[in-house]
Order: sequence, then C-alpha cells, then structure tokens
Amino acid sequence: AAKKEGRGRASAFDASMLQIIEQRELLRRSLRIALERDQFSIEYQPIAESDRLIGFEALLRWQHPLLGQIPPAVFIPMAETDGLMSEIGRWVLENACREALNWPSDYIVAVNLSPAEFLVSGLTDRISQVLDSVGLASDRLELEITESVLLERTVNNLDTLNTLSVLGIRIALDDFGTQYSSLSYLKNFPFDTLKIDKYFVSDLETNTKSQAIVRSVITLAHDLGMEVAAEGVETAEQADWLRGLGCDRLQGHAIGKPLPTQAIREFVAGSGFMLKTVTRRPIIPD
Ligand code: C2E
Ligand code: MG
Ligand code: MG
Ligand code: MG
Repeated sequence: AAKKEGRGRASAFDASMLQIIEQRELLRRSLRIALERDQFSIEYQPIAESDRLIGFEALLRWQHPLLGQIPPAVFIPMAETDGLMSEIGRWVLENACREALNWPSDYIVAVNLSPAEFLVSGLTDRISQVLDSVGLASDRLELEITESVLLERTVNNLDTLNTLSVLGIRIALDDFGTQYSSLSYLKNFPFDTLKIDKYFVSDLETNTKSQAIVRSVITLAHDLGMEVAAEGVETAEQADWLRGLGCDRLQGHAIGKPLPTQAIREFVAGSGFMLKTVTRRPIIPD
C-alpha cells in the first residue's frame, strides 16, 4: 500500500470519507422518520439504594432497519442539531412515566434531558401535563441534566429548575466531574441528586486519586443536602468502596444492566426487590 501514493491513495481516502458522510446522511434522514416508524424503544437500568431497588433510569434505544442498534451518543447529538430532540424527548418522557405505573408505587423513574430539550420554552408546562395525563406523582420523576445544559447560566435556567423543583420533580446533575464541574452550579441550582461519573468509579479500587475525589464529592454533596449516586459500578469491589464512602445510590452493571420493558416488568412482578447484602452478582441478571 505504501508504494501506491498520489492519486490512488487520495481516492481511497476520499472514498472512505464519502462513505462516512453518506452514512451520516443516511442516519439523519432515517432519524426523521424513526419515531413514526416505531423504531425507538426504552431500556431501563436499575438504581439501587443500600439494600433495595429504588427505581430505574430510562435509556433510549434506536434500532435502525439496516444499520442495527445506533448508540444514543451518536444519534442524540444529530437529533439535537436537526431540531428533533424535543419531540423524541417528549416520547421518552411519556413512555417512561407510563411504564413506571407498572412498578412498585415508591419506585422512581429517571429521565435524561438533553440541552435542546431543556431549553425549549414551555418545558415545565409540558412536563406537568405529561405527569397529569399519565397519572404519575411528580415525586416519582427524576430529571437528569448535565452541566452543559447550564452553560448559559441564564435566569431562565434557574427559573425552569426552580419551577420543576416546586412541582415536586427531582433533579439530578448527571456525569458530574467530567465537564465544567463549576461549584457555582451546586451553589445556585436546586439539585436533589449528584451523579458521579463512571470515570471516577472505574478505577476506584486501585486509584487513590479517584478515592480522594469520590470521598470529597460525597462529603460536599451531603453537606449541600444532596444525595449522591455513582454511575458505571461494574464490580462488587467498587460497590463496597462506594458504600464504605457513604454513597447513597449505585448504578452499573454490578447492579444490573439496562433491560427492555418486558424483562423489568417480570422482575418487579416476580421475586422480592430486596438486594443481597453486598452485590456479589447483579441484582438483575442478564
Ligand atoms: P447517561 O445518562 O450518563 O447514562 C449512563 C450510560 O452508561 C448509559 O449509556 C448506560 O448504558 C451506560 N452504563 C450503565 N452502566 C454501566 C456500566 O456499569 N459500565 C459502563 N461502561 N457503562 C454503563 P447509553 O445507554 O449508551 O447512553 C449514553 C448517554 O446517552 C446517556 O448517558 C445520556 O446522556 C444519553 N441518553 C440516553 N437516553 C437518553 C434519552 O432518553 N434522552 C436524552 N436526552 N439522552 C439520553
Ligand atoms: Mg443519565
Ligand atoms: Mg451519566
Ligand atoms: Mg454519561
């Protein structure tokens, strides 16, 4: 291949670029019709408090007819730039709230909100309408936002979060520690839960810096009256560490992977939802 320089190389490069661009274009066009063609679904990942399940996080899935499962990290940014995320997000919110009616009545449902969804006007009305029409108590809904949502720290953002809070809806700050992690967010916005990103959890057993950061963040959040959740808990050792450091909630493959609706329904309808003392195996097996 090295001796094939010049034109040959350039055209090979162009061809692969073109393929990528065409695939992105294909995805974009598909995304516009995905909702009406019923290609979206939601998986639910368990959220555990020390010895019991307290609910599930809704995670959007897109099954493309030709390309298969497309990760949210790929299609959500596309949906955002194409102005589709507001409608898709509404679909997620409605379906997730409706699904929560099938669970024990004290379980919460956590729903992610991307910046484009959060910044749309009338968000709070829309959310309370959905809760009303579905018949879900507002304190069973937790909305997860990331710091990027708050980058423009306008009065509006604060208003929106305060209104949601007054409605009784819980608010979680997702992926904490990976983006701007401005402490002013913690001072100014009414978060109920702080979710420590898996970046600090994945090497918790061996990395003393991760241990120090997680320990301090838990203390800080508790002093501010917030609950702390850890994401991406994959091993029993990580779960032990987090519980030892006083982390309130655990989420990750060690607790349970995201699962389709039917599996979750069967699980909550069936055996007890009490957890084993320390997670030696997933609470919800694959
Ligand atoms: P997130 O909200 O931080 O969700 C956690 C992500 O980590 C999920 O990826 C989940 O499948 C994955 N995960 C859970 N446990 C483990 C673990 O033990 N190890 C590892 N390595 N990963 C784990 P997923 O489903 O690919 O979603 C990625 C991101 O896409 C989410 O991050 C969220 O920001 C966004 N997203 C997903 N669904 C929605 C949605 O309905 N609306 C919006 N706006 N965003 C969504
Ligand atoms: Mg989340
Ligand atoms: Mg997260
Ligand atoms: Mg994340």
